[in-house]
Amino acid sequence: MQTNVMEANIGVVYLVGAGPGDPELLTLKASKLLAIAEVVVYDNLVSAGILALINPDAEKIYAGKEKNRHSMEQVDISQLLVILAKQGKKVVRLKGGDPFIFGRGGEELETLIQYDVAYEVVPGITAANGIACYAGIPLTHRDYAHSCLFVTGHLKDGDIDLDWGSLVRKDQTVVIYMGLGALALISEKLIAHGMSEMMPSAIIENGATSEQRVAIGTLTTLPSIAKSRNFKSPTLIIIGEVVTLHTRLNWLKSMPALEILPSIPLQQVA
Ligand code: SAH
Repeated sequence: MQTNVMEANIGVVYLVGAGPGDPELLTLKASKLLAIAEVVVYDNLVSAGILALINPDAEKIYAGKEKNRHSMEQVDISQLLVILAKQGKKVVRLKGGDPFIFGRGGEELETLIQYDVAYEVVPGITAANGIACYAGIPLTHRDYAHSCLFVTGHLKDGDIDLDWGSLVRKDQTVVIYMGLGALALISEKLIAHGMSEMMPSAIIENGATSEQRVAIGTLTTLPSIAKSRNFKSPTLIIIGEVVTLHTRLNWLKSMPALEILPSIPLQQVA
């Protein structure tokens, strides 16, 4: 499928997934769009190596939602995309991972549709599969897990609204996004709903980057391990028997120096 990037003077928004960190995990389509973008509106989870691939002449607008840092409200971001596209610009809205997985991509598209703005969506490798891979933890395995659940551990009013019973199923891997702040509560709730206290559990900080750190424990010990080792966001939590495979399958001993890909000439990838 070809992206109609060559049409002149028609504003368009490309909602693009940047993957979990390693620039080489970008899709060819994402890389091509970064090279021709006129404006890139990016989030805090987009790594520096990926930002380095942006067309040097493009305007870069930070729209992250980091705590304690001035950032834009979701409604402002959507409106900004509309304004830039109406100015006839080729806009890349760059999001960490995949834009449709805990990325609010759907909400931004709804605003674009409302204002009749042309758009395309480019998927990215989501944190769950990219980081599990770089941590040597297969999310499914014939002996350990036949299903895998992606959930958010984001706290709202001091609680997490999850169907805990559905998380505590046999032969299932649970991947928790945004779960660091509520890790102790998550562990408590899963145990209260019948998960073994000894369930192997992993936390991965800055996965798929040269700063990746992995800690392994059990459902009971993981919160204190994360605390004592001072794990900081972004972290991904993986709970399930598959975590035991990490010791054998941990192929990424150290991330090779992240070479920044040269900008790919358009005609080679079109
Ligand atoms: N759309 C993104 C997820 C956005 S929610 C995706 O598909 O991956 C943000 C959460 O993703 C973080 O709080 C963290 O739980 C996870 N995450 C994203 N990148 C990560 C990274 N490099 N290392 C660890 N966790 C990451």
